[in-house]
Amino acid sequence: MSFEELGLSSEVLRAVVEEGYETPTPIQQKAIPLVLAGKDVMASAQTGTGKTAGFTLPLLQRLSQTPIDTSTKGRKGMPPVRALVLTPTRELAAQIAESVANYGKYLNFRSAVIFGGVSINPQISQLRKGVDILIATPGRLLDHANQGTVDLSRVEILVLDEADRMLDMGFIHDVKRVLALLPETEYRQNLLFSATFSKEIKQLATRMLNDPQLVEV
Ligand code: AMP
Repeated sequence: MSFEELGLSSEVLRAVVEEGYETPTPIQQKAIPLVLAGKDVMASAQTGTGKTAGFTLPLLQRLSQTPIDTSTKGRKGMPPVRALVLTPTRELAAQIAESVANYGKYLNFRSAVIFGGVSINPQISQLRKGVDILIATPGRLLDHANQGTVDLSRVEILVLDEADRMLDMGFIHDVKRVLALLPETEYRQNLLFSATFSKEIKQLATRMLNDPQLVEV
């Protein structure tokens, strides 16, 4: 199977070719068509399987297919975020942000990465200018939410990456608080990636996914 056959647009395919990828990995073959079809997905995938491209490529394409709703201003004048990728660590957040920038270089999106341990003010300036795709760790994202410097009320696509690590690191309550700031489950597309599907992950999945398609590789 080729990337072309997965239904990706020419802008996305061009970036994939420039990355030097020839064949989609198993997780990409299964996840990309489902995400493009607008389905919620619960996928088991370890790091190194190509899962980042598995959600980033179709996410970029989905956003480019639906126009930005500019009819109303976001809360406190902050432009609303369209896609949110939650990750447990800053390293992972930075990696995903790099992938988004690479895979989306022929599309016109603004992305930003937000994590703790660094100054908050540059992040606020970035959010103020407008961010379509936000990659964040839960704690710092909640800091922004509490200060009113991020508007998550119109998120169209949510990705929870490495959900099992998120729980292991004790972020479950933060994740739940973030979920409470998003539109209702059925008004957004939800993707959950986890190396394992423990009882806790399944409980979280029930809370955040709407009729998910299971992908296991
Ligand atoms: P990930 O599992 O998302 O962390 O990706 C692991 C590595 O595989 C990254 O360095 C990607 O650049 C690379 N990669 C992702 N998809 C492909 C592909 N289809 N062909 C070759 N390399 C890939």
